[in-house]
Amino acid sequence: MTNRQQAILELVKKEGTITGDQIADHFNVTRATLRADLSVLTSAGFIDARPRVGYYYTGLERKALRDPFLDNPLVRDFKAVPIVVKETSSVYEAICTMFLEDVGTLYVVKEDNSLAGVVSRKDLLKTAIGKMDLQEVPVGMIMTRIPNIIVCYEDDPLIEVAQKLISFQIDSVPVVRVREGGSKDNPVYDVVGRITKTTITRRFVDLANGLRV
Ligand code: ADP
Repeated sequence: MTNRQQAILELVKKEGTITGDQIADHFNVTRATLRADLSVLTSAGFIDARPRVGYYYTGLERKALRDPFLDNPLVRDFKAVPIVVKETSSVYEAICTMFLEDVGTLYVVKEDNSLAGVVSRKDLLKTAIGKMDLQEVPVGMIMTRIPNIIVCYEDDPLIEVAQKLISFQIDSVPVVRVREGGSKDNPVYDVVGRITKTTITRRFVDLANGLRV
């Protein structure tokens, strides 16, 4: 929200109801100047207009803060780029990728790029404190593997993925598409994104920043 949009929202809240002309007078501008701002606030649902009465505050802004999933955000609009390594990559290479890409979870793919598993920070740490040669051990050997991988789809509501993160106590869920040719019991997945705890936290922060008045 721009400063002026926030100021308009404040004014409408304070006045109860107020006409477009009165808002324009308040800001010493013409009605036309405010048209875009009023339409942003109206389409966001924060204010509404009644004929012959004027603009009024809907209260939606408070509800959105209480329920960040009110408008049913979908995975497709929030997914980040997935960071993948081949299952033949060494644990050493996986650790380097994790640092270079600044992520906490890597998705492991087969030679044909379909999802094979997931490797987390602690999976790598566990291997690193063992006696094995990190350059020799392939990530395929230490990853959590399919079919034990929790996945999500682009059309899934974001809240469902947030629930998965909590109930399975994981930091990240790969966003997948089912590849043609797999069976129902053994689906083959292409990895097209990731939803992480950061994704969900950012949703809260964005809402709080956008809605703060
Ligand atoms: P960390 O192990 O660094 O705390 P996580 O909590 O994400 O990170 O991972 C916990 C365990 O769950 C790890 O062994 C990891 O391989 C596994 N894991 C992570 N993400 C998934 C997922 N989407 N589906 C299944 N297992 C997962």
